[in-house]
Amino acid sequence: MAGERDGEGGGVYEELRTFEGRTAATALDGKDPVNVPMIRHWCEAMGDTNPAYEGPDAIAPPTMLQAWTMGGLSGYEGRSPAHDELFALLDGAGYTSVVATDCEQEYLRPLRPGDAITYDSVIESVSPLKTTKLGTGHFVTTRMDVRADGELAGTHRFRILKYAPAQRSSPSGKGRKARPRPVVNRDNAGFWNGVAQHKLLVQRCTDCATLRFPWLPGCNACGGQEWDTVEASGEGTVFSYVVMHHPPFPAFDPPYAVGLIELAEGVRMVSNVIGVPYDKVRIGLPVRLEFLRADEEWELPVFRAAEGGVA
Ligand SMILES: [Zn+2]
Repeated sequence: MAGERDGEGGGVYEELRTFEGRTAATALDGKDPVNVPMIRHWCEAMGDTNPAYEGPDAIAPPTMLQAWTMGGLSGYEGRSPAHDELFALLDGAGYTSVVATDCEQEYLRPLRPGDAITYDSVIESVSPLKTTKLGTGHFVTTRMDVRADGELAGTHRFRILKYAPAQRSSPSGKGRKARPRPVVNRDNAGFWNGVAQHKLLVQRCTDCATLRFPWLPGCNACGGQEWDTVEASGEGTVFSYVVMHHPPFPAFDPPYAVGLIELAEGVRMVSNVIGVPYDKVRIGLPVRLEFLRADEEWELPVFRAAEGGVA
């Protein structure tokens, strides 16, 4: 599928390509000359203690290149309309989302306190239509040439993808996004069949009787391939947990706790801990199995904090 061009109206790419080489900004001035306080703040923020960035012969960290061109909260002045026109064209063609993908810098000479910064920006390239996991769209590369006292000191290439978000199938229909589907295969189908009957089934090796979870084709203890199942009692304790704050995911509502539950039978499984605020989940908290209807198709085993178990 990568690079397929279906679905894009004729002539869009040809029109986009006319932007290649167009100026996005000419001879703009950096808001401040290269200066010691900004260098010091950068080094503190980055934890960079390189002595080259201190003292009377200090140079600026090369990776600060873009910092000298930034508009700050008051923004930029004097930009040419090419960039806005290109974005309007991409928006109009349905590529309404944007994500920064990478940046690339080249350093030609060190910047020193006192250097006056000017820069130009050009739309260097617009890619043919590409299909990515995020969706289909065009990569746009902008190149900024940074000059110190009129001399080219470095270049900064910045690439974004302007794309139409991929349509995600949503088996549960409208509203809240569906939870991710578990992968059900021959090795674990028995587990999900059990869940459908409100049973939490743990595999047991019929050679050495070792219990195992999650479901696997063979026994880690003896290598045996034969197994049967035991139904878990549903009693357990929180063995460990994390609280998820980031990244956000549409099917979930952070912050929430993800628990590693140790079942009374001794095996552990990852699950949700419910019936308790995320910040009250504790190691050792007694929990009990329940089945939560996640959507029309799926019920999931989750664990509810036992009455009186929360400190
Ligand atoms: Zn075994």
